[in-house]
Amino acid sequence: METSEHIERLRIVGGDVALDFVNTEDGDPPVECLRGYGDLVAWSVLVGLFSAEEGERLVGEADLRPEDAEAVYRDALRLRGALYGVFRALAEGGDVPERDLETLRGYEREALSRGKLVQGDRGFSWEWKDGRDLAGMLWPVAHAATRLLTSGDLDRLKLCAGCYWVFLDASRNRSRRWCTMEVCGTDAKMRRYVAKRAAKRAQ
Ligand SMILES: [Zn+2]
Repeated sequence: METSEHIERLRIVGGDVALDFVNTEDGDPPVECLRGYGDLVAWSVLVGLFSAEEGERLVGEADLRPEDAEAVYRDALRLRGALYGVFRALAEGGDVPERDLETLRGYEREALSRGKLVQGDRGFSWEWKDGRDLAGMLWPVAHAATRLLTSGDLDRLKLCAGCYWVFLDASRNRSRRWCTMEVCGTDAKMRRYVAKRAAKRAQ
């Protein structure tokens, strides 16, 4: 399976697969990293929802049913938009848009109807292992989002001050402001430095 460069380059820093999914639209101004169904599968492999082998199988399945794959791709963008609406509102302390929540409810209902509750070595979990379901990555994402809302530590949910990515702040004193220091943190420091120098010159 070919993984496009814009997927390979994606930083996985959300702290939850639902947030990493939201962050597949990158930066400000936004750059779309999911440019088609193939990217959606590649992302799912990157974050570990599927093995490389399972990904290959899905891409093969998509080649046989291109229209279905296109529909799943559009569904994925719809789910992502709703999740961004929900998590951005929560990170900013605002009201969660009812329309976005309703979209998530729909996906979660569908996820549970297709999933299987299984017992593993480390307790129980939901599994989506129908290798032919082209939308197979949307269900664990929707379920992760629901779990984050119902039992996650939402006080730690933050919006990057630079690029508007969402992430869970796992730092002990909850002081993380950036998706990653290297990308947005350094940018912001540089901007402050340039502004300071400009102000000094103007004096
Ligand atoms: Zn950022």
